[in-house]
Amino acid sequence: MTTITSWVETGPDTDFSIYNIPFGIFKKQDGYTGAGSAIGNYVIDLHYLHSQFFFEGLGLPDDIFRRPALNDFIALGKTTTGAVRQRLIKLFTAGNHQLSDHEEHRQGCLVPMPEVEMLMPVQVPNYTDFYSSIEHATNVGTMFRDPDNALLPNWKHLPVGYHGRASSIIPSGRPIQRPCGQTKTPEAAAPVFGPTKRLDFELEMAFITGKENGLGNRITTAAAEDYIFGFVLFNDWSARDIQVWEYVPLGPFLAKSFASSISPWIVTLEALEPFRVAGPPQDPLPLPYLQIDGHQNFDINLEVGIQPEGSTEQVVSRSNFKYMYWNICQQLAHHTVNGCNIQVGDMYASGTISGPTPGSYGSMLELAWKGTKPIAMPDGSTRSFINDGDTVTLRGYAEKEGIRVGFGEVRTKVLPAAE
Ligand code: CA
Repeated sequence: MTTITSWVETGPDTDFSIYNIPFGIFKKQDGYTGAGSAIGNYVIDLHYLHSQFFFEGLGLPDDIFRRPALNDFIALGKTTTGAVRQRLIKLFTAGNHQLSDHEEHRQGCLVPMPEVEMLMPVQVPNYTDFYSSIEHATNVGTMFRDPDNALLPNWKHLPVGYHGRASSIIPSGRPIQRPCGQTKTPEAAAPVFGPTKRLDFELEMAFITGKENGLGNRITTAAAEDYIFGFVLFNDWSARDIQVWEYVPLGPFLAKSFASSISPWIVTLEALEPFRVAGPPQDPLPLPYLQIDGHQNFDINLEVGIQPEGSTEQVVSRSNFKYMYWNICQQLAHHTVNGCNIQVGDMYASGTISGPTPGSYGSMLELAWKGTKPIAMPDGSTRSFINDGDTVTLRGYAEKEGIRVGFGEVRTKVLPAAE
């Protein structure tokens, strides 16, 4: 691949290189809200560029970048959104002088990142959470059921999932309150009500759909990528003690629905092309509607840090999206094989992404092994789960042959439970 650079100073370790060009919704200090992209440490104001005719010929509505979410933009289709992204890459590549030599345009379209607040990139109609990491499913099955039969009989035949809560998905930077609910220990005669004692993160990624299939229509694994616009980092907050009491027989409910936190930039599928890798071998071979051609996993480095109040951060997990047993095409094909209609802006989380080694597990439940192996923090305290005042940050980036495409972060502080 020919290497390109941007005339915007980005540095080698930026998540937002010229190869990325993600999409998000930003709010300036003066209250202006609109769609943006990112390069280095700058937000690119897309409405400004549109108003100055830099997207001429692409057939965009005049106000497409002034709407409160990216749903309408994404719904224009991949040909159009891809052309906008390619136009941006061209404008910001070193050697192109349309913007770089024009002081007023440069000032007009580049906003320093510290001066903006990032909002939800899309309005999310529906949220589905899968359970597609074999290491995570095996760890949880080992802890709570039977080490010899950790995976339930269906697990290698279909991507297990459930319908989550879309309304409580929030962007990075917004704190959450420790949730309250019913819990019951095995020894107790009756349940009690109160703040969860086992608040946990789940290290996940989520894809966002950009095209509808219509009720009754399946999406094949071969067609699935045409429906997928891009990805965000996804922290699927979980209250383990609430979960274990409530989840039989219908699955997760209030232990999950209080909040899920996402990174605010949607990194497109196109930007992740260079990082495709083969997924783990699937044995037994899935049914024909779940079979795939080619590589549909992605090599994306992931990490989780915990920063206690008043202390420094400790990285507690390093994992990778490539470990997923079931890939995004299989997830979407399975989701629609019964005719379920998907919508623009829907989010589909991967499930906790655990790797094969203890340092790569994607939740405190696994990292501290159900509280039996607490993790040391820089301030001398230990963690089995997440404490009040802790800030949990997920980060992710892909890197290959000098090309780096990253997601930024999803950072969330945990506040005490409401009285
Ligand atoms: Ca989850």
